[in-house]
Amino acid sequence: MSPPTQAVILCGGLGTRLRPLTDTVPKPMAPVHGRPFLSYLVQQLKDQGVQRVLLLTGYLGETIREFFGDGTGFGVGIAYSAGPTDWETGRRLWETRAALDPTFLLLYADNYVPFRLERLHEFHRSQGTAVTLSVQPKAKANIRLAANGRVELYDASRTAPGLQFVEVGYMLVERDAMLGCMDVPDASLATTLHRLAETGGLSGMVSHDPYHSISDLQRLRLTEQYLAPKRILLIDRDGTINIRPPRADYVKGWADFRWIEPTVEAMRRLAAHGFRFIVLSNQAGIARGTVEASAVDAVNARMRDELRLQGIDVLATYVCPHHWDAGCACRKPAPGLFFQASEAHQLRLDRAIYVGDDPRDSQAAYNACCESVLIGPERHGADGTVAQPAHVAATLLELEPWIVSRYEAWESMP
Ligand SMILES: [Mg+2]
Ligand SMILES: [Zn+2]
Repeated sequence: MSPPTQAVILCGGLGTRLRPLTDTVPKPMAPVHGRPFLSYLVQQLKDQGVQRVLLLTGYLGETIREFFGDGTGFGVGIAYSAGPTDWETGRRLWETRAALDPTFLLLYADNYVPFRLERLHEFHRSQGTAVTLSVQPKAKANIRLAANGRVELYDASRTAPGLQFVEVGYMLVERDAMLGCMDVPDASLATTLHRLAETGGLSGMVSHDPYHSISDLQRLRLTEQYLAPKRILLIDRDGTINIRPPRADYVKGWADFRWIEPTVEAMRRLAAHGFRFIVLSNQAGIARGTVEASAVDAVNARMRDELRLQGIDVLATYVCPHHWDAGCACRKPAPGLFFQASEAHQLRLDRAIYVGDDPRDSQAAYNACCESVLIGPERHGADGTVAQPAHVAATLLELEPWIVSRYEAWESMP
């Protein structure tokens, strides 16, 4: 069963914490690099296969309609349902129920989180609940989640014991099951979710993807930094920059390090186009006692120095030192190293490419909501997975022009 193709965005709020900006524009229209924040959401939804977007407007809703029209020019169909400013969120959904698909994606208009709709949908189907939330761990939380994915408690007051998560929007909704438990006409979404949790109808999929919000002016500034286009290429080390040591062996010192020349040449050309680089590397030899962490650091430092002499700027190297049995969050194909890089460099992973030489590199990139390309002898994607690389080639040099054009295309879209 394919994922839903309709998204609904709650755009009606007053945005009081964004004053004075929201004196003249509604919150979803807050400018980010000369475009409304909402256009980044619309583009993201389009990227994920959404075909129709329904905007539930309220405060200054005409401003939104004038900008987006019927969606021509944005590549998706856009429709509107306008209501008075004082309508609760649940009421907005209820009043437009005839326009809702049986299953739809529901978003707030003030969060941006990279996500994969197919992955969320798969989880939602396995839960069989009326609503599946996307949740993230947080100290001041409103959700208690059971190990099986069910939300045990949804507490808008954030005071109950054992709360671990907050929801970030990006929820999948079964229309009839949700409306059936709604207290109309004055329903808020929070009340409805609380009620669903009480009856076992609410689940939560945990994500650790970078989360950005425009809920106040300070956050809006951070979000603007994050959404700024950056020519940063993520790249694997062993087998991609240098010749991979035999399986279960490691580069123990600089004497073991052998450049893959076409990669270095490609990096030189990319650097001439303004690209910088971040290296993400599994080094289980550290946990296995085969190689010292300090030796890995020394090799990476030397590698960066040598590349810098050629005008190639490696911003950082991130290493997973753990054993493959450790179940850590950073050993690829887990996406932890990507998230570390994203946080430190305000890097938007859904506008970045990862270069690797192993199908697990593509899987890691997929898990991080990032694109990938594979080079070298094992450059095929893993069979039977959705995590296929965008391109494969014998060397990075062959892919360099495409990488430049891909980033250029991204720079011209929200
Ligand atoms: Mg590799
Ligand atoms: Zn790790």
